[in-house]
Parts: sequence; structure tokens; C-alpha cells
Amino acid sequence: MASSSAQQYGWIHDGFVNSWTRHNDGKLAAKIQKKWLRHRFLNAISFNSRAKPSIFLLLREWLQICDKDHTGCHRRPEMDDFWPRRVIYVGDRRQLTLVEEQHRGDDYLVLSHCWGLPEDETKAEEEKNRVCTTPKNYKDRLHGFGYDELPKTFQDAIQVTRALGKNYLWIDALCIIQGPGGDWNSEAGTMASIFAYAYCTIAASSAPGWADGFLSAQPDSLVQGTLSAPTCACDFDKDVEGGNLMKRAWVLQERVLSRRIIHFTSTHIYSECGNGVLCEKLTNLTPPLGKQRFFLDPNFPSRLNEAGYLRTVDFVQFLFRKYSTSGLTFAADRDVAIYSLVKRMGEVLETEVRYGIFHCFLGSLLLWKRDENKTSPISYGDRSVPSWSWMAYPGGIDFILAANQDLEVPRDVDLGFIEDGKALNVKVRKFLGSMWFDVVGYIRLEDCNCVVVGMVRDKKKEGALQTYHVLIIREKVGGGGYKRVGVGKMEARYISRDYVAGTLW
Ligand SMILES: [Zn+2]
Ligand SMILES: [Zn+2]
Repeated sequence: MASSSAQQYGWIHDGFVNSWTRHNDGKLAAKIQKKWLRHRFLNAISFNSRAKPSIFLLLREWLQICDKDHTGCHRRPEMDDFWPRRVIYVGDRRQLTLVEEQHRGDDYLVLSHCWGLPEDETKAEEEKNRVCTTPKNYKDRLHGFGYDELPKTFQDAIQVTRALGKNYLWIDALCIIQGPGGDWNSEAGTMASIFAYAYCTIAASSAPGWADGFLSAQPDSLVQGTLSAPTCACDFDKDVEGGNLMKRAWVLQERVLSRRIIHFTSTHIYSECGNGVLCEKLTNLTPPLGKQRFFLDPNFPSRLNEAGYLRTVDFVQFLFRKYSTSGLTFAADRDVAIYSLVKRMGEVLETEVRYGIFHCFLGSLLLWKRDENKTSPISYGDRSVPSWSWMAYPGGIDFILAANQDLEVPRDVDLGFIEDGKALNVKVRKFLGSMWFDVVGYIRLEDCNCVVVGMVRDKKKEGALQTYHVLIIREKVGGGGYKRVGVGKMEARYISRDYVAGTLW
């Protein structure tokens, strides 16, 4: 057993199907079309000229159905106990206000977007100071500020919030005081709750930066009367998963934690909730079984506890693989851009998490290997990330053990978290076998030792021929413990029975 908490899960094997199923929602289409006719005559709501008016009708309808009919999407009671530290009040058309009063029980929306700052550092700094809330303009913004001062993406998000009949919107750049003297450090930790408890997340998927906006002037499907097409040929994976926004590492936790999301992509608008995905032409997309479902789940990560051990490990590995290849402007954000999500998952799984390694999946997650691009470790400045964590390096990772391989770990455990430090307690052995190193360069094998993480039992083989999964380690320069240099697989007979106790940093 990987740990005591692993015991609470059953061992479930699950087949994964990899494509979305689709069908047109004719009933909803008819309803919307009827409403639209009435709405057009009444012309009750005035819209921004770049927006598709009928889309808002559709989105409002979808949100209502989701609230009312979708089991699992319901508003949870704990949402009434939470309110972000600050939100923007958009209900007054003359001006916007940054509000710090708590409005628990009311609804707010959140914006998920790419900052897309200019590459030139001076220009980027100028733009940040102009757009963001900073210690300098913060007091003024509590009294009010102009819609016209804001970049296009923010203006579009305000349009959407208003059109959905809501008054409050949370945008990181405006609601967290940015820069030196700001409160980013304390606010970053609440990000998980901010996204989880929002009425809805607006994802500016098509906008490369905040200056670009996302409400397009494309023809309106409803006005054009194309709504009744049997099913449309939209490609959610390409538009959303492959879009600019989802390639950003920071966005992964926003997406996974959101209760429901409206994705504004370059070709389609999609709404996503626990019930599946609906495109603007009313094609219902049902996700394939498996990992995708966790993304849609409004109760994530609570559902992990019911998913079974193997499915959960599989998802965690999938999440980290995806995260490791997502873009970060600052490499040293690698440990923080997913912090809020990982912390929340750890709470739900009732397990300790250190540097992206869950204690309940210790063996499986320690067996990571880097992709071919073996650049130097990330320089974290004052902070430091131990060598046994995949967060120590930039670039893509994979795991040498597939989630469905049943890893048995030594009863007399070879490794464990040290009470309050960054190190792992390990038993250090001599070995011989196949291995993957973390960095390029000449490492003398004679200098290396290994730590047994576990084995995948092959019933046809006798003990000494079983394959062990190991971490390859080397003594720290100047002594005082070991550093991870790679990962490997080898037969038990090539690993020494004798060991010395050590610490892995
Ligand atoms: Zn729903
Ligand atoms: Zn579609």
C-alpha cells in the first residue's frame, strides 16, 4: 500500500473512451427561437454592437436550466459563506467600482484570461501600472473608475456579466492589488475558492491578451436561422483545449475548479458544466469517460474520493503532465501556478502534499521522468525545490509507471516525508539496471545509488527477477544527504539488499 489513505479506495479498472458524443438539442432550440422572436419585438435589452444578442438569451437560458435541472450542478450551501476580498460592481452604467464589502449569498462572475503583456519590459511595466489595481490607484478605484480606461477583454467580460443580469465581476488584475506593496501573496491562496464559488467563469479563450477582447462580430446563428441544423461540426477539443488560454499553466487550476464555464473561442461559444458541453448552435457534447469528466465536474475535487484509487492516480498524472507542458511567463512560478488546486485536492484526499507529490500516491508520483529537453533546474531564488520533485525542472514530464500498473511498495518502507523539512527519508542501495537521468551530462554510475519505490509484480517470475522501480540518487556535494538525478527500472537481483539510511533533498 502506498500509504494508509490509499486503503480507503477500491481498486477499480476503468476503460477510457476517447471521443465526444453529440446530439442536437431540438427542444431547447425551439424554446430559444420562440423567446428570440418575442425578444426581438420587445427589443428589451440593449447590447454592445460587437456581441451576438441571441447568445446572451441562450446563455441565460442555459444557466437557468443548469441551476434547476442538472443534478450535481446545484448551488452548494457553502457558497453562501464565501465572498472574494474584492469584486468590481458593474451594475452602474456610469461608472465601475471596486468593492470590498462582503455580499455573501449574491452572485459574482470571474474572468479567466491571458494577460498577454508586451515583450518589452518597460512597456509591459507601463501597461501593468495603467491597467492593474496597484497600491497607488487602489483608493481611487474604491470610489469609482471608468469603463473606457479598461482593456477590451475586461470590457467584454463586463458586457457579459451585465447581459447575464449580474452585478459583480472578479478579475485578478483589478481585484488583487498588484506589484510591490500589493496583496498578491495572501490572495493567491484563495484563488481556488474564488473560482469554485463563482456563479460562472467567463473564459476569454480566443483573446491572446487583455487588449484583444473576445466578443466577436461574427454573424449570429439565431438571427441567421441556422439554429436548427442537425448537429454542427464544432470541435471543442481544438477550440478550447488547443486554444491560447488553455495553453497557459495558470489557467489549468481556474478551469478545473470552476463550477461552470462559458468559453468564448475564435469560432464558437461553448458552455461547460457538470452535465457536458453545449455549443452556441445547440449541439450537446457529452465528454468521453475518464479524465475529461473531472474537468467538467462542478464538485471537483470532492468527486475524487468516489472515483477509485486508479482513476484518481490516472487523473493526477494526466493533470501534472498537462500542466508541465503548459506555458509560464516566469519559470519560477512552476510551484505556485497550480498551488491552490493541489492544496485543495490534498484536503479532499486527506493527504499531505509536498511540491506536487501527494503522499497517498507517493510511489507513482515520485517515478516521474523528464522529456528530451533537459535544461537546467529552475532557479527559484530564495525558495528552493527539492530534487525529488518534478517542480525542480522546467518542461514536460511523464511517469514511468502507468496509473493502471499496480505498484506494490516495500512493507518496510524505503522512503517517507520528513516531518517538517523538504527532504525524504530514504534507504540507499547499490544497483544495476535501466535508467533515465534528469539532466544531460556525464554522471559516473559508480557514484550513484538508488531508492526502491516499489514493484509491479510479475507472477511468472521469481523474487530476484522481479522489476523494481527506483529513484537514482547521488550524494550531495559536500555530503549531508542525497539528490535525485534520475529514475529507473531494474531487476531485484541487481539491487543491493544492504542499505544505509539517508535523506533525499
Ligand atoms: Zn449544469
Ligand atoms: Zn457546435
